[in-house]
Amino acid sequence: MQHTITPEDHGPFGAPMERAVRACVHCGFCLAACPTYQELGEELHSPRGRIILMKEVLEGNLTADEAQPYLDPCLGCLACEPACPSGVPYRDLISPFRALTNRERKRPLIDRLKRFLIEQTLPFPKRFRLAAQTGRLAKPLKALAPKALQPMIDLIPDRLPPQQSIPVISPAIGETRYRVALLAGCAQQVLDPDINAATIEVLNRNGVEVVTPPNQSCCGALSWHVGNLTQAQKYARQNLKAFPQNIDAILTNAAGCGSGLQEMPLILRGTDYEDDAKDFSQRVMDISVFLNRLGNLAFTKHKEYPALRIAYHDACHLANAQGVRSEPRQLLAQIPGAEILEIPDAHLCCGSAGTYNIDQPAVAHALGQQKAQNIVDLKPDIIASGNIGCLTQLKLHLDQLGYAIPIRHTIQVLRDFKSLSDL
Ligand code: SF4
Ligand code: SF4
Repeated sequence: MQHTITPEDHGPFGAPMERAVRACVHCGFCLAACPTYQELGEELHSPRGRIILMKEVLEGNLTADEAQPYLDPCLGCLACEPACPSGVPYRDLISPFRALTNRERKRPLIDRLKRFLIEQTLPFPKRFRLAAQTGRLAKPLKALAPKALQPMIDLIPDRLPPQQSIPVISPAIGETRYRVALLAGCAQQVLDPDINAATIEVLNRNGVEVVTPPNQSCCGALSWHVGNLTQAQKYARQNLKAFPQNIDAILTNAAGCGSGLQEMPLILRGTDYEDDAKDFSQRVMDISVFLNRLGNLAFTKHKEYPALRIAYHDACHLANAQGVRSEPRQLLAQIPGAEILEIPDAHLCCGSAGTYNIDQPAVAHALGQQKAQNIVDLKPDIIASGNIGCLTQLKLHLDQLGYAIPIRHTIQVLRDFKSLSDL
């Protein structure tokens, strides 16, 4: 796309943003892949429309506030990237653009309050647990809360699982084949701590020692995707210090966190930490990729899941951001008797997308309902996915449709079919 952007005017993000704009040839192949274009039906709510809007702002022809009604509803799901024949790196444009324009934005007071609450609770497991417990008590009074805060209350589960502490070192069972470090995930530790327990158990049983660095922080993805660069950089620097060097991989079991860690070089671009961030991000791997490479996993049936029609839901930040589609399916397919069901319109986001279901509740609701209905139509025995945000969103919408289909992280399904005696 022709433009008159001067990259030097936009700091360290100027060059990658300019490259992304230049790569777009207006072909429109991305439109069909974009959930917000499908939902809202307007060109300006499509990837192509948004690229033009960002170009106009970067050229100085539009203000950020004029463009934001169309940019804020972007999920950041990156479904537009694999659909683009020209290889436009949309991720190099949308998040840097948000970071660049964040300070110029004139947000209503209630939006600022909502952001403050999210930024001060979600990345901190202890605070988030307390906030979720308090929020549960507020559920009956939801109607009295400001409308903008009501979606936050909806997402608070009726029951929180008990807190689980994670040992710094979880030794391998038998011979140690590998040593990895685990990112524990902030909200995940509170909403479903069993995901980390299952991850560690499966790894240990397969001869992998797991180090969970105690000083690790949030991955920074939530901050980065809403334009809070200062907070995202702070978390990135903290994780650079917290994770050891003498490990074979840095594993994540939440798609959003994994893609956040892989974006660390962009987050720290132009700082003294950029090279360290590149080295760090190259060692980051989703648990499904690591287990797939490990191979030789043995499974037995577990009584909890006598039938095995598994609907696998692609988390956008695993499938689109990290290109991880086949590995979780291949792992699940190793379970004896498992049938992996493909969800229609799998490329469309479920509407979770970090804090999207809080920021843009109407679109998130429509996408959540559509995804839940598509899953229900398959009549699965269980649903598996690799991201706590998706699991929470899907459970909410399945509940609303009146279906109680078990929904678990892929690693929980694998753990529950895993037998020590088979090793
Ligand atoms: S990131 Fe997702 S919502 Fe945003 S433009 Fe791309 S496909 Fe559409
Ligand atoms: S598919 Fe790629 S090149 Fe074509 S309009 Fe979309 S972003 Fe631009």
